[in-house]
Amino acid sequence: MPKSLMLLSAALLAAIPAEAREDRRPTSISITVDTSIAEHTLSLVCSQREVNERQIRSSPLVQAQIEHNRGLVAAATMDAYVEGLRALSACRAPSEGEDVFRVGAILADPELFRRKVDGLRARQSELASSVADRLTSYVPAGTQFQRAVILAVPYFSCGGFERGEYFYIDVQCLAADIDDDFAALEVLVAHETFHALQARTFFPAPIDAGEIGDVNTGLQYHFGTMLREGTATYVAGTSALLDVPSAGAFTRLGQSFGRENAARLGENFRLLTILFGYAAASPVGQERARAEAVEDLAFDGGSFQEFGYYVGARIAADIEQVWGREALVCVMQLPPEQFILAHEAAVAAEELRLGAEAIDAARSVALARSGVHGFERCHPTLGGDRQ
Ligand SMILES: [Zn+2]
Repeated sequence: MPKSLMLLSAALLAAIPAEAREDRRPTSISITVDTSIAEHTLSLVCSQREVNERQIRSSPLVQAQIEHNRGLVAAATMDAYVEGLRALSACRAPSEGEDVFRVGAILADPELFRRKVDGLRARQSELASSVADRLTSYVPAGTQFQRAVILAVPYFSCGGFERGEYFYIDVQCLAADIDDDFAALEVLVAHETFHALQARTFFPAPIDAGEIGDVNTGLQYHFGTMLREGTATYVAGTSALLDVPSAGAFTRLGQSFGRENAARLGENFRLLTILFGYAAASPVGQERARAEAVEDLAFDGGSFQEFGYYVGARIAADIEQVWGREALVCVMQLPPEQFILAHEAAVAAEELRLGAEAIDAARSVALARSGVHGFERCHPTLGGDRQ
């Protein structure tokens, strides 16, 4: 843009009230890679330096990580973290039973960890633009989002996790050559980033089983999970991962989930229908227990490879294919039962769809809700009144 025009548009922008201007800014999704924890940890290796305990314990990044870790492994406390760093500095590998944060693996080959961190740092702008490209057209126009992806070293699990405003990637289980897992990493960061965007823009639904008090809230919990995980799986480009030739273990894990779910997608739709019907028919007092059972089967990686994610991803893909991306983005912002009802309306009867028990359950939740939230508003020839 010529400079005079830029000045003119700056002057025009200044004349528009801030609230109205919000929508006119182009959507911006900005990701940076934060290597500070990883670099600090790796600098300690065999240094014999004193660990700055106060600094570690007061770091909000470390605190948030430990909060998440303790939910997975009770022994993963701040004390254990500090002990792990001391062992690193002293060049002393803890015995296996005591190595909660697996610092032994770092001591065994610190160069490997340094190479991975360097590899990620070198490709951070590529990672950022790939994630932004995937997500920009799936969020409301004008969305402004900025977030750092923190490289977690030491850590003991695989993949990524979110805690509060932070997002972490475990470096340990990524391939020695970061290129081998880069495609899966792009999907992971896009998926988790989309969750953060959903938290700002999606209609609120219970996200904790503790919020379930009756059948209605139990169903909202499941529909909300399917909507969030299904759309994140879809917009992150998870299905394209299947075509990536890769030697990385993390990539291969993602590919095996995708392949197995694709091979039994019809059964996945039927099983999810049965599970939603089971939640809808819960006797009084058992709503939460049933919800947790459904959660374990449908959305947990340990049983059927998070099959509920892939049903939700197919539903999102179908709505976009039949009604267009703008309509999908609109449907996603509605209460989660509308996602199911919109799919029922969009695809032909012979296509893959959730069965009658699931549709009835979605209708009952929609009926009990006050306000007008019908998906019809998202489609010009159904409701038309798009806002
Ligand atoms: Zn997710």
